[in-house]
Amino acid sequence: MIADAIVAASQRLISDRLTTGTSGNISVRDGQQAWITPSGVAPGDMTADQVVAIGLDGGLLVDAAILPSSEWQFHVAVYDARPDIAAIVHTHSPWATGVSCTRRDLPPFHYMMVGTGDGTLRCAPYDPPGSERLAMGVVGALGQRAACLLANHGVVATGNDLPAAEAMAREVETLAQQYCIAQLLGGPESLDAQQVEELAEVFRTYGQHPGGPAE
Ligand code: 13P
Ligand code: ZN
Repeated sequence: MIADAIVAASQRLISDRLTTGTSGNISVRDGQQAWITPSGVAPGDMTADQVVAIGLDGGLLVDAAILPSSEWQFHVAVYDARPDIAAIVHTHSPWATGVSCTRRDLPPFHYMMVGTGDGTLRCAPYDPPGSERLAMGVVGALGQRAACLLANHGVVATGNDLPAAEAMAREVETLAQQYCIAQLLGGPESLDAQQVEELAEVFRTYGQHPGGPAE
């Protein structure tokens, strides 16, 4: 069940210190609606029946008894703009949030940055949490990428399912930590466009290939 998976993912993010308290939220697309974490409920107290369904046609509440995440507008806006995205994980994970406070866009400083799509990570302008302007900023900063930073706030990570979105949230945090270490050592040297391009082949042939070695 989707709601159980959302609660379990929320609790993993707490135990792995990617979120604290009631910060962060998760949603999963389900046809014309999405399931989203309740607002202001700590994952340790969260139950599957508190996970709320919201309509993707204007964000109408399907069950108004429990308030959805205050960030429902950016979740709905991302699903609207990106039919390929089926899950969204928002965190205030420490390294990535620290970087977001510099309001910097990150270049392809590490080969794993191509997990975002084009090797870069953009930072949405600061807007108040829960605002429609923040939702517009998230859509703009995301573009066709799998993740973005939110200035002075945190991370939005996406995927074509919940495990992929959670993995992206974890990857962004790791990359942000590596970026900070590189900054301490004088700043990273970034990959050039050709080096980013040739990574597509590296990833195509990486890992196990059930049908035998990749061509
Ligand atoms: P919610 O508890 O309403 O999801 O808000 C947490 C948060 O991270 C706001 O940006
Ligand atoms: Zn937040």
